[in-house]
Amino acid sequence: MLTTRDHEYQDIRDAVRDLCASFPPDYHRRIDEKLAYPEEFVDALTKAGWLAALIPEAYGGSGLGLTEASVIMEEINRSGGNSGACHGQMYNMNTLIRHGSEGQRQRYLPKIATGELRLQSMAVTEPTAGTDTTKIKTTAVRKGDRYVINGQKVWISRVQHSDLMILLARTTPLDQVKKKSEGMSIFIVDIREATGKGMTVQPISNMVNHETNELFFDDLEIPVENLIGEEGQGFKYILTGLNAERALIAAECIGDGYWFIDKVSAYAKERTVFGRPIGQNQGVQFPIAESFIEVEAANLMRFEACRLYDVGQPCGTQANMAKLLAAKASWEAANACIQFHGGFGFAAEYDVERKFRETRLYQVAPISTNLILSYVAEHVLGLPRSF
Ligand SMILES: Cc1cc2nc3c(=O)[nH]c(=O)nc-3n(C[C@H](O)[C@H](O)[C@H](O)COP(=O)(O)OP(=O)(O)OC[C@H]3O[C@@H](n4cnc5c(N)ncnc54)[C@H](O)[C@@H]3O)c2cc1C
Repeated sequence: MLTTRDHEYQDIRDAVRDLCASFPPDYHRRIDEKLAYPEEFVDALTKAGWLAALIPEAYGGSGLGLTEASVIMEEINRSGGNSGACHGQMYNMNTLIRHGSEGQRQRYLPKIATGELRLQSMAVTEPTAGTDTTKIKTTAVRKGDRYVINGQKVWISRVQHSDLMILLARTTPLDQVKKKSEGMSIFIVDIREATGKGMTVQPISNMVNHETNELFFDDLEIPVENLIGEEGQGFKYILTGLNAERALIAAECIGDGYWFIDKVSAYAKERTVFGRPIGQNQGVQFPIAESFIEVEAANLMRFEACRLYDVGQPCGTQANMAKLLAAKASWEAANACIQFHGGFGFAAEYDVERKFRETRLYQVAPISTNLILSYVAEHVLGLPRSF
């Protein structure tokens, strides 16, 4: 199936497809069944330089933009894989590149580019604050040349497969700031040094094979030089990273959507019931065709969000809209795919049920559909703030 934007970024698409061909769906299925981490796949992506796409050439990366990074993520999901194992590195990197000091960039980026270090984790969500991020309770209090961290995070992904993590914590209490988005800061946490020395990691068993955890901080000490940017401005910095994350996840959903449509179209041509291929029935054709149209439309918004990000223009609205459209479209494609596989849609060997579970996540994380709708209602349409 050739899609509207397939002719673009052909070199990247071909190279990533080649690499992914060595990790066919049964590789990802076995990893899923064992609830394992796709080490060999992530290593291969790292060695080929794909996970360093956003790192400037001066620091050992390939200096590509978010658009190219999103094509890499799309192709991984389109091949039957799941970028969720490694996408954190892409958007976390951007936070460090855009807001880190020169010293921090020199210290971390070249090692991330070679794969010596992994920066796969970002800790924002907390059990009591939920989506209301400004209410986070994790605090960072400066004591001499250290910050002392106390609090709790939840749903923090890839901590067990990362060396570094970006942490959001309050440095000024909420009742002492003019705007509630002020007074939060971001830090680089060295997971290897922190685990067991003030940070406890508690894995959360969940619906997808996605390594995610609860984190408990009890007087974790981190050096002051691990503060990224200015103290108190962390929420603003995190938002830049979140826009990149939304655009990248939109691309992953686009990849999922095309995978479902390819898979179900092939099956519907072959599966014969009542003496004809099931795909000959309009009742089967139309949901597939409709979800293809929706994935194609979402794809245009994804490229627009990436374009704006790459030229340094505000892209919050487009990144959010792209993520909502793409997550909905991939979910519709997933539903058509599982439905028209009949009982076989539920058999692990077809990979449909695995991809179905994986793509469902993106209606909720990294931001729920409702919160995107309220963002657009308030910030684009000027409707009264609802919360
Ligand atoms: C597998 C997985 C991996 C994750 N990885 C990470 C990670 O690495 N780092 C990290 O920081 N976080 C991570 N998250 C957290 C994720 O970003 C949050 O789960 C998500 O943002 C929703 O927040 P919440 O779970 O606190 O839901 P809540 O804020 O409790 O909201 C629950 C639901 O209520 C509805 N809702 C809430 N408020 C409103 C409102 N005002 N108007 C309308 N509807 C509303 C929404 O539908 C929402 O889905 C992950 C989550 C999952 C499931």
